[in-house]
Amino acid sequence: MIVTKFGGSSLACAEQLEKVKNIVLSNPERCVVVVSAPGKRKSDDIKITDLLYTLRSHIKYGVPDNDILDMILSRYQEIEEELHLDMNIVSEMRDFFNSLDKDCSSGEVVSRGEYYCAKLVARYLGFTFVDATDILFFTFDGDIDYEKSRKATKAAIEKYGRIVVPGFYGVYPNNDIHLFSRGGSDITGAYMSVFADARVYENWTDVSGIYAVDPRLAKDAKIIRSISYDELRELSCMGANVLHEDSVKPCQDADIPIHILNTNEPNDEGTFITSNATCLTPITGIAGKKGFVSFTLHKRRMSKEIGFVYRALEIFTKYNVNIEHLPTGMNTVAFIIEEDNVRSTMHKIVADLESELDCEVELERDIGMLAIVGEDMRENIIPVSSVLEILKENQININCVVKAPDEVTMLVGVSENQLSLAISVVYSGLRKQGLI
Ligand code: ASP
Repeated sequence: MIVTKFGGSSLACAEQLEKVKNIVLSNPERCVVVVSAPGKRKSDDIKITDLLYTLRSHIKYGVPDNDILDMILSRYQEIEEELHLDMNIVSEMRDFFNSLDKDCSSGEVVSRGEYYCAKLVARYLGFTFVDATDILFFTFDGDIDYEKSRKATKAAIEKYGRIVVPGFYGVYPNNDIHLFSRGGSDITGAYMSVFADARVYENWTDVSGIYAVDPRLAKDAKIIRSISYDELRELSCMGANVLHEDSVKPCQDADIPIHILNTNEPNDEGTFITSNATCLTPITGIAGKKGFVSFTLHKRRMSKEIGFVYRALEIFTKYNVNIEHLPTGMNTVAFIIEEDNVRSTMHKIVADLESELDCEVELERDIGMLAIVGEDMRENIIPVSSVLEILKENQININCVVKAPDEVTMLVGVSENQLSLAISVVYSGLRKQGLI
C-alpha cells in the first residue's frame, strides 16, 4: 500500500487535478491520498490558505470580507465546473463561512482549504472522503494520539478501500481543530503512512526531487537521487526548503521510505529518502541559513576552569535561549545562536556573562551558517579540507568551523552577506572535484 500526498501546486486547477488522477489511478496500491489546499496557478496568484488566514482576521475584526470570500469560492467553483463534478460545493462553502462569527478559531476557518479540496478530489477520483477529524487525533498537549489515530485510520481503509484525507489538521479531544504549522500536509501524509503501514510515502510536488543546492545559487544544481533521513533533516534545518521538517521523524521511526516526485513529470526518478541512502559522492547536499549571532567568551586558561561553560550555559538558560553550536578552544568558547532568540536580550546576556564569569565577551552578528551534509563526512576528512580551501581561494572570511565527529554535517560560519556566494563557490568547487 502506498500513501500519496499532493501539494498545493498539484491541486491548483483542473489541469493539475487531471494529472493527479492519472497518477493515482495508474497504481492500485495508491489507496490513501492526502491533499493540501489549492496553491498558486501562476506566480502572482494567492494560495487558498493565505486567503483563509486573511478571511479569518477580517471576520474576527469585523472588516467587510466579501471580496476575499468570493476569491476563495471562485477557485473551488472553477475546479468543480471544469471537472464536471456537479457537487454544488460553493453553496456548502458559502453557508459554512456565513455562519462564522468573530469568535471563530483559525483552525476552524483555515482547515477548510484542505477540507473542501479533499471533497472535490474524492469525488473526482471516485474514492471516499474521510475527514481528518475522524482519523487524526491529538491530545490536549498537541501530541498525536497514536493508538486512537492508528486504529481509526486502519478501520477507514478497511471499510472504504481507497480514501482521500485532507492534510494540515486533526482534532483535539474536545473537537476543536488543531492545525499543524504551515506546509503541514506533509506531516499528515507521514502519519497516514505510519498508521496504514505503507510500503512507501509518496510526496508529489512541482520539482523532480531534492536539489543538492538551491538552484537559484547554482545553475548546474543536481537532484539528489538517494538521501538518508538524517541528511535530509540536517539540510531542512539549515534552510533547504523541501519537506516539512516534522514529517521526516515519523517515517524514520517506522522505517518507511519517502519518495519525492514531480506531478508535472511523473516519469522522473525523484528522490528516495531512506535510512541506508546510497549517495555516490562523499557530500550529499549543501544549504545555508542567515540570522545567527555568536557570543565568543575569552578568558585565559578557560579550558582549565572547571564549570566555566556550565555557568555560561546557566546564564543562557536563564534567558530561555537555545544554543545551536558551541565551538571551543583553549582560551575561548563561542555560543552560536539564532538571532531571533536573543534579539531583545543579547546585551543583558553579555553584561551577565562578563560580570559573573569575569571574561571578555565579543558579540558578532549577521552570521550565515553554511552546512555541508553527507553521511561520508563522519569519517572522510577530504571534503572538510576542500571546503576550507575553496572558501580561502574565494577570499571568504571564515568565522567558525563546527564539526562533531559523529555528525553528518560540517558547518562554517561566514558573514551573512557572503553566504550566497559561499554556497555557490563551494558547490561548484566540490562538483569539479567530484565530491558532490
Ligand atoms: N495549505 C497549508 C499551507 O499552505 C498546508 C500545506 O499546504 O501543507 O501551509
